[in-house]
Amino acid sequence: MKIEIKNVSHTYDVEVLNNLNLNLTKYKSVAIIGVSGSGKSTLIRMMSGLEKPTSGEILINNYDVRDDAYKKKIGFVFQSHNLFPHLSLKRNITLVLEKTRGFEKAEAEAIALKNLSLLHLEDQVNKLPKNVSGGQAQRASIARALSMDPDIIFLDEPTSSLDPILTHEVLKAIEELRDLGKEFILVTHVMSFARAFADYVIFMSEGRIIEQGPPTILDHPQTRELIEFMEKVR
Ligand code: ADP
Ligand code: MG
Repeated sequence: MKIEIKNVSHTYDVEVLNNLNLNLTKYKSVAIIGVSGSGKSTLIRMMSGLEKPTSGEILINNYDVRDDAYKKKIGFVFQSHNLFPHLSLKRNITLVLEKTRGFEKAEAEAIALKNLSLLHLEDQVNKLPKNVSGGQAQRASIARALSMDPDIIFLDEPTSSLDPILTHEVLKAIEELRDLGKEFILVTHVMSFARAFADYVIFMSEGRIIEQGPPTILDHPQTRELIEFMEKVR
């Protein structure tokens, strides 16, 4: 995927992103890491077009992320599943396909079932979110994002609300998606997953990109910030 970030800054009440620049052309799976509060969620939200930076420009696969056409090319998976609580896992997907993509009921159903199966949820499709585990609900929200057939899937700490066993189960399911031909931009605090899944890693601290490169940068940190971070997450 092609990622161009040009002089991006963002201020809420204080400056959260400080003049970020990034130019990547050949990676399929980019992981953003860093301590809490370093600006990872802000950056991934801006890259997905969910939020606008105070200044600067972001182009992904040659789309300005503010374009409506770009919104159809991406899917976003949040920290907690945000499924509609009163709808079954399947209906959570078919409803969106019918209302936002104009699919007929039968087609929407086939797409939903295909993607729920891909996430190993074929036996759970008629359950409400509250009647499945947190890991299953999170996998259903990944299935929902996939059902929109996006080119790029954004995931912002998809396992942060899960215990270690469910975390493993969700990350394993994400790893299995690698061969679907999708591109991924994700925030994770699980370094083993960043190493296994990402082909490029961006390390942020205090609103800046401090180090970046293939996952092997985690084995040979060059900056005080990444050295300290790796000591904490080990
Ligand atoms: P991370 O995802 O790395 O934990 P965030 O991007 O969520 O970091 O936050 C970076 C900084 O911006 C934090 O100091 C956070 O408190 C602040 N922040 C995030 N979202 C908002 C918001 N909507 N309004 C005000 N401040 C925010
Ligand atoms: Mg965050």
